[in-house]
Amino acid sequence: MCGGHKEPGHTTFSTDLGDGLVVVRHVPALICDQCGEEWIDNKTAQQLEGIVLEARQKKHQLEVLSL
Ligand SMILES: [Zn+2]
Repeated sequence: MCGGHKEPGHTTFSTDLGDGLVVVRHVPALICDQCGEEWIDNKTAQQLEGIVLEARQKKHQLEVLSL
């Protein structure tokens, strides 16, 4: 905690699965106005998990989605 304020905003989540890269844009998050640290809530994290699972099965080189 740096003492900054958490402001609601959007971030880009990306993860490298080894045989593919998944990028999810417009992910709602709380973003610290001082250090830029991001917090994603549990519901959103679960959505991301589902997206990553699906992407893993498709085995695409690159998957870019929006929430
Ligand atoms: Zn901070």
